[in-house]
Amino acid sequence: LPEYAFIGRSNVGKSSLINMLTSRKSLAKTSGRPGKTQLINHFLINKNWHLVDLPGYGYAKVSKSSKKVFQKFITQYFSLREQLVTAFVLVDIRHKPQPIDLEFMQWLGENGIPFSIIFTKADKLKPNAITRHVEDYKTVLLETWEAMPNYFITSSSKDIGKDDVLNYIDELNENMKID
Ligand code: GDP
Repeated sequence: LPEYAFIGRSNVGKSSLINMLTSRKSLAKTSGRPGKTQLINHFLINKNWHLVDLPGYGYAKVSKSSKKVFQKFITQYFSLREQLVTAFVLVDIRHKPQPIDLEFMQWLGENGIPFSIIFTKADKLKPNAITRHVEDYKTVLLETWEAMPNYFITSSSKDIGKDDVLNYIDELNENMKID
C-alpha cells in the first residue's frame, strides 16, 4: 500500500495533526512532553494507505547519542521507502524558517524524496501574519528550489486543513492507480 510519512521537529504538533487526520483520538497519543514519539508508527487509513509517524527531530534537550539514534531511524526509513509517495514536513507557522527544517528539506530533495510542507498551529496567528510567514518560507525556499513545494495550512485545535491534506493524499492514490 502507498504510504505517507509525517515528520517535523518535536513539539511541532505532529501527534495532534495525526489525531485530526485519523479522527481517532486513541490512535496517536499527544504528549505535553516534547520528544516523546520515539518509534516509527504505521497507521492503516481507509484500508488503502498507510500513515507513517516518524520520530521528531531537533529537540534541544535530547542527548547527542539519542539524536544520532533518531537520525539513523529516519535515514533508514527513507532508504527503504519503497511504498513512500510523499513526506509531509511539519513546521510551526509561528516561527521564521528554521535552519534545521530547511536542512531537512534540502536533504529530502538531494535524496529524491518528494515532500509537501504542513504548517501547523495556524489558530495561533492572525490571517495576515500567516500570509507573511508563508511568504518568508517561499522567499527562503526559492533560493534553492525552483518552485515552492506544495503546502497546507492547518490547525489541529480548530480542525483546519484536514480535508485539504486528506483530499491531496486521495488524489495521489488515485493517480497511482491510473499510471
Ligand atoms: P508533537 O511532539 O509534534 O507530536 O506535538 P503534539 O501534537 O504533542 O503537540 C505539542 C503541543 O502543541 C501540545 O501542547 C499541543 O496541545 C499543542 N498543539 C498541537 N497542535 C496545535 C494546534 O493546532 N493549535 C494549538 N494552539 N496548539 C497545538
